[in-house]
Amino acid sequence: VTVGAVRERAPGERRVALVPEAVTLLRRAGLDVLIETGAGAGAWFTDAEYTDVGARVVPPEELYAHADVVLCVGPPDPETAQALRGGQTLIGLLEPLRHPALVQELYRRGVRPVSLDLLPRTLSRAQSMDALTSQAAVAGYKAAVLAADSYDRFFPMLTTAAGTMRPAQVLVLGAGVAGLQAIATARRLGAVVTAYDVRPESREEVESLGARFLDIKRPPGTESGAGQGGYARELSAAEQAAQREALDAHIARTDIVITTAQVPGRRPPLLVTAAAVETMKPGSVVVDLAASELGGNVEGSEPEKTVVLDNGVTVIGAGHLPSAMATAASTAYARNLVALLRHLVRDGELVLDPADEITAALMGEASLKGGASS
Ligand code: NAD
Repeated sequence: VTVGAVRERAPGERRVALVPEAVTLLRRAGLDVLIETGAGAGAWFTDAEYTDVGARVVPPEELYAHADVVLCVGPPDPETAQALRGGQTLIGLLEPLRHPALVQELYRRGVRPVSLDLLPRTLSRAQSMDALTSQAAVAGYKAAVLAADSYDRFFPMLTTAAGTMRPAQVLVLGAGVAGLQAIATARRLGAVVTAYDVRPESREEVESLGARFLDIKRPPGTESGAGQGGYARELSAAEQAAQREALDAHIARTDIVITTAQVPGRRPPLLVTAAAVETMKPGSVVVDLAASELGGNVEGSEPEKTVVLDNGVTVIGAGHLPSAMATAASTAYARNLVALLRHLVRDGELVLDPADEITAALMGEASLKGGASS
């Protein structure tokens, strides 16, 4: 089996699907590895480093001509999608819920899309392949570091000759993988952290990191916010309004807000209104990890933009943080791909077995159709 990692073409994307250490592991497993020229540059990996560990660095035409499996990070641009041929397998975070047309077009042309975003999250034997988790952990860490960097006071309590400085108050909304990593990082920097999530089971995880879990009463007669597969469900408009009202008082008292709330296939929930941001003190910082073209958790946050509002609050739209730490994110992502390829390649053949729980999930629609195998 020949696998080929492409150069990412999305604007601002610096990650790469394979790093040199992953090439070594794949070669050891008997795979041939192609890397598109310059693919690792954004994450500080040179072509020579890939060649040294036995990959062939090739121009894109050659990669598409010879790779059985094309590896990418984000969804391919139209040109890359066009270059794929029938029988080829494409593995990446293809965001099929956001770009259904892309995936359908690939199927139509006989390309087999394997979407890492469809991995069953709670299946323990799939954990090593969980790219959403590895990337979210990077984003959560970076969000806390970014917030600390943009905040003009200390995170920790400091006792100095000039007296005592109070610690920063951090509020983390959404305590999934990214939120928990943001909590852990803010705690390590010495901040006092409060966190909230609609999934009641997250309370224990929040508290085990030394943060306080914010209790928000659910409107009478409503269910818990836990949905399917460990994800949150979308709250009704009335539930969302009640949630925002309850959060407002806490937001006014906090120095840093980091939001990470997502609901699969839906617009991210709006948790922090412009009116709530208005109530924050000058110098406060808001980091919105959900900021995207669809809107984010914070009203008025803009994707990849930092805005200092008239009231002195800095709002950072930070939906692509894994790319801002491209080396760590790529290294973790490549490890996920190696684990997945080890699962899919048997006796030197790529086997896409629809009867396998992991494969069926990753192939999404294909599994519904009965799917093509090997
Ligand atoms: P995600 O990115 O889909 O969402 C982030 C967080 O936002 C979630 O915790 C979600 O509950 C929360 N959220 C959604 N709407 C909200 C709202 N209105 N207010 C507040 N919070 C809201 O989630 P994720 O980080 O990808 O994690 C998804 C699930 O997968 C979690 O249950 C996580 O524990 C689980 N998971 C399990 C494993 C494992 O078992 N090995 C590994 C990774 C993740």
